[in-house]
Parts: sequence; structure tokens; C-alpha cells
Amino acid sequence: MIRLIIFDLDNTLTDFVWMKDQAIDAAIKAMIDAGLDFPRERIRGEIYRIYDVEGIEYQKVFNHLLVDLIGRVDYRILAAGIVGYRKAREAALVLYPHVNRTLLALLKRGLRLAVISDAPRQEAWLRLCYLGLNHIFDTVVAFEDTGERKPSPVPFRVVLDRLGIAPEEALMIGDWPERDIVGAAELGIRTVFARYGDTFGTRDSGADYDIDDIYRLVSIVDGLNGLPRKEIDDVRSDQ
Ligand SMILES: [Mg+2]
Repeated sequence: MIRLIIFDLDNTLTDFVWMKDQAIDAAIKAMIDAGLDFPRERIRGEIYRIYDVEGIEYQKVFNHLLVDLIGRVDYRILAAGIVGYRKAREAALVLYPHVNRTLLALLKRGLRLAVISDAPRQEAWLRLCYLGLNHIFDTVVAFEDTGERKPSPVPFRVVLDRLGIAPEEALMIGDWPERDIVGAAELGIRTVFARYGDTFGTRDSGADYDIDDIYRLVSIVDGLNGLPRKEIDDVRSDQ
């Protein structure tokens, strides 16, 4: 009997890579407009180079960029970049299609819901809040909660322990096979690969299920929980 669904956050519930690209595009445009006299692609290349070194959540990326390009932080340009980034991020931080419908359907079935994210705790909570999901999950485990990243079994154990759920009663969904799928499978948690969020061109996910639409989770859970076909159709027609 499945009683808990554990979600990865970035590229599973929200298209983080697309959001980042949109926000960076807007920031580049704003910084050029404020006087940064470099070709767009040169600036973009430099930003992603800095992210590669410092991590994708690096908060001082534009300061760093300006020092690299013009030898100092020009605050007129910096502010334009930050504001451009934030405005575009807010508009682009959205859920994948059918996420709300799926979460509601799972809640209606009495399932517990959790998030395990490798993102910094504050960034993970801010994204959940922007997405309107901050009250949906029974528990959220971000990087600082355990100090370990997936595929470490520690964050998975913490979620199971907090909710009093056995591994075989849980299902993990994520877009990163080496982290989300491997980590969960090692503990005996069933796994679902969010192919719709794949940015690596993954061929063999190693998961128990591969899905192209998050709503497929509902029929997977119903199948595992032995809900008769008719009941599945009845529940669906309510939605
Ligand atoms: Mg992810």
C-alpha cells in the first residue's frame, strides 16, 4: 500500500532550468540597457561559467560578472540586472502542467506528500511559496536539514522517520536518475522518473516507472494500491 509520495522540487514540480534561462535573459537585457557594453552571448557565457564554478544558486553572480568584465561592480548596472532577474523569475516560476491536479488527486486519496530538495533551504521554501505549495507538503527536507545531498539515503530516511512510513509504502518522483532514483531505490522506495523534466537526455532512467506527464502518478498509485478500474474512472470523472 502506497501511503507517501516524495517529490523532488526543481525540474519535477517546476521547470527550474527554463525559469533560470528566462531570468538570466531578462537580466542581461537590463544590464546592456543600463550600459554594459558587451555582446549578449558573451555575457551569458560568462554568467553560466560563474554558475558552473560557484553553483547554480550563487547569489552574487552579477557582482562577480561585472568584476570579470569591467573590473569593478557598477551599481547602476548591478541593480538593473538584479531587478530584471527578479521580475522575470517571478513570472517564469510556474508549475508544470497538471501538477495542481495531481497533488489534489493524491491528497483526496489520503496520501501523505513530501519534498526532498538539494537546494538551499531558504531557496527551496521561497520557490514553494511562490508556487503556492508551501502548505501542501507534510514535510520538506532541503540541503541544510541533513547536510547531505541525494543520492545519500539520509534525506530519504529523515522523511520516512518523520512521517512514520516504511520504504515500501513510499514512491519517489524526480528528474535526476543518479540522485533521485538511485537514492530512493537503495532504500527500497519505488521510483518514478519525471521524463518531462529531463534536461540530460536520459535514456535509461533505472526507475520503476517513466512518465511524460505528472498526472500519470495518480494511476500508478491507484494501480499499486489495487483500486478497481471502475473506482479509478469514478475518481477521475470527479476532477
Ligand atoms: Mg530535480
